[in-house]
Amino acid sequence: MFQAIVIDKDSERQQAALQTLEDSQLPAGDVTVRVSHSTLNYKDGLAITGRSPVVRKFPMVPGIDLVGEVESSSHPAYRAGDWVILNGWGVGETHWGGLAQKARLNGDWLVPLPQAFSPRQAMAIGTAGYTAMLCVMALERHGVRPEHGEIVVTGAAGGVGSVAIALLSTLGYRVVAVTGRPGDAAYLQQLGAAEVMDRALLSAPGKPLAKERWAGAVDVVGSQVLANVCASTRYRGVVTACGLAGGMDLPATVAPFILRGVTLVGIDSVMCPREERLVAWQRLASDLQLDKLGQLSHDIGLGQAIDTAHQLLQGTVRGRVVVDVN
Ligand code: NDP
Repeated sequence: MFQAIVIDKDSERQQAALQTLEDSQLPAGDVTVRVSHSTLNYKDGLAITGRSPVVRKFPMVPGIDLVGEVESSSHPAYRAGDWVILNGWGVGETHWGGLAQKARLNGDWLVPLPQAFSPRQAMAIGTAGYTAMLCVMALERHGVRPEHGEIVVTGAAGGVGSVAIALLSTLGYRVVAVTGRPGDAAYLQQLGAAEVMDRALLSAPGKPLAKERWAGAVDVVGSQVLANVCASTRYRGVVTACGLAGGMDLPATVAPFILRGVTLVGIDSVMCPREERLVAWQRLASDLQLDKLGQLSHDIGLGQAIDTAHQLLQGTVRGRVVVDVN
């Protein structure tokens, strides 16, 4: 028997509740994991509240992240006692996920827990932090270096934003943090932001081309904010787009792309190939300062996950949420 958050749906609406399940109910998979910690990402908020159709099958155990100890495995790469991380691959959407004390998974989805991190630290990073690393790697791949100028990070006080600020500042970039919570300026500066900008300055429709400012960008907001970020990106600058916290639309023009050679790079963590995941986790181990990870995360229990998911979508949760499932 184990505890899990379960989302179920009747003809009217979906509901999430903490339930006790039996091992025999676990889905098919070649690795069974005793989960130690999970997390709450924006997508988990969408799944638990039902605000977007993230969950594709019911009943569903949400949780796109988990870390835990292998209980049993018929996968050649894993043995009982190994510690593993899972991020994405549709887990928590189409396959039972991490907001549970136990999970059964496809071993091909797993990544060994890097020695640099405790299980809790790995989940303080979670999908949000690993996605922030993918954004940083994309900026680097497209040639953006600290001497080229400022990097703007939107949704700065959220999970992806907080880790992106910590990473970029450690790597020597000057980071401008865009937030709807100017009251959190001290927090953002402690993470490494050189300047904090009010989101309102980027939220109204702007010109197709604005004054050139950013050498690069990490955008989690989408919509008008992303359009304005593109319009104010410098000649040959690079914008990484990974989120839709402000909306799925993109009311932009092609002007920044055809007149300034701006590159817009899409970032997806869910189906990202294993080789790139391994590199991202290695880079997190070498480039993320653990004291900053402590500053940007806090812990809750499984019983608080549903309430916290609602708060996350209201934009009132700061940084990363680690769920201690036991
Ligand atoms: P969080 O909820 O932790 O952070 C989102 C932040 O966006 C908030 O803290 C807030 O920052 C800002 N925000 C919230 N609502 C609005 C709004 N209406 N308009 C403008 N800004 C808003 O979420 P995560 O960091 O976990 O995820 C951020 C985004 O990235 C989500 O859209 C998520 O789906 C996406 N994502 C995508 C991944 C991928 O693979 N492509 C992987 C991980 C996340 P502030 O208060 O500082 O303004």
